[in-house]
Amino acid sequence: MTLSEAGALELDAADPGHRELFDVPPAQGGSYPEVAYFAGNSLGLRPKAVRTELLEDLDAWAALGVEGHLDAARPWLPYHELLTDPAARLVGALPSETVVMNSLTVNLHLLMVSFYRPTRSRHRIVIEDAAFPSDSYAVRSQVRFHGYDPEDAVIRLRPRPGEDILRTADVVEQLGGDVALVLLGGVNYLTGELMDIPTITKAGHLAGAVVGWDLAHAAGNVPLSLHDWDVDFAAWCSYKYLNAGPGALAGAFVHERHLGGDVPRFEGWWSTEASTRFEMAPESRPPATADAWQVSNPPIFSMSPVRTSLELFDKVGIGVLRERSLRLTACLADLLGPFEVITPRDPARRGAQLSVRVPGGAGELSRRLRFEYGVIADAREPDVLRLAPVPLYSTYHDCWRAAAALTEVMG
Ligand SMILES: *Cc1c(COP(=O)(O)O)cnc(C)c1O
Repeated sequence: MTLSEAGALELDAADPGHRELFDVPPAQGGSYPEVAYFAGNSLGLRPKAVRTELLEDLDAWAALGVEGHLDAARPWLPYHELLTDPAARLVGALPSETVVMNSLTVNLHLLMVSFYRPTRSRHRIVIEDAAFPSDSYAVRSQVRFHGYDPEDAVIRLRPRPGEDILRTADVVEQLGGDVALVLLGGVNYLTGELMDIPTITKAGHLAGAVVGWDLAHAAGNVPLSLHDWDVDFAAWCSYKYLNAGPGALAGAFVHERHLGGDVPRFEGWWSTEASTRFEMAPESRPPATADAWQVSNPPIFSMSPVRTSLELFDKVGIGVLRERSLRLTACLADLLGPFEVITPRDPARRGAQLSVRVPGGAGELSRRLRFEYGVIADAREPDVLRLAPVPLYSTYHDCWRAAAALTEVMG
């Protein structure tokens, strides 16, 4: 290992991040009091402010009952609007293009209702072979819902034999005239590959397809410019890099050019414009914003941690975070030199995650890391260990601990 423990501590003193704003769990093994947490790509740690601010929102219910809809310090009726601007800034969207609602896969379905409009000659959906299973199930069920056969209609992109990541040129080549929808992960959950979103989006449009992105592993990880990249739609969850807690509400993006028109949507009373909602009219008057994709009145106590977390991203800035992320991930990549890392080596083609190929038994390996070393890393059986140094709260010393533990465990 090139970096010593003392060297890692020096780097932390010079480039400290914002660990003090988070609750870091105690370690259940090893010689340090806190875990070295590398699972922020799975469930981010709790910002300390979440507890205080969630209790404030909860106590408004006790103090006000139904009047909290209008009279709470953060009134519930327009509560979701508090999240719109910071979420839009995070993904490079206009506020009108952005809404926080539901959970990720639900949003993918609602957006496919609008943007997967298959015809006999154009009904295929392109996903990655290593797509997160929820995305695979979602697109297959959409295909069946429209009366087509998923075996025929779902095209799964595979890396070349012997390779682990997709090449942009190979992706582009597969976008033929029968493709209705391209729906890829912005950052692949397994390999950590950051896709060339603008290039693939442009190629999809040239092929006549709609292009949507699942940004579960991209939002809060890498800077995004969804509006300028001309992405049709996108969705992301808030419990990974966005640290908004288990099952936290998700985000959705619909490009400006699709707003206010006659794109089909599923509606409920939250799809209608707020100013006339309580006229209780039988027909909706949807606003020309992404809010028109809302269906139900939102869960305020689930929205509260998302608001707190997005405020933190606003304060620090995704650009600054990306800079620290590049430094931290480069440090971990260097420390993991002796291991087989399947994530792209080029920092521009990856986010904060490095996926290490292990010789099988990834689950057992991650248990040993946890209970013998206090290192929390995610295992994907059979042979991938995922480590995400998160720029908000991970440290160079965490990276050093992970590499030292892996070296010991794997001999
Ligand atoms: C985490 C993740 C999901 C999870 O879906 P939920 O609807 O939030 O349960 C889906 N897709 C991808 C790509 C993910 O990384």
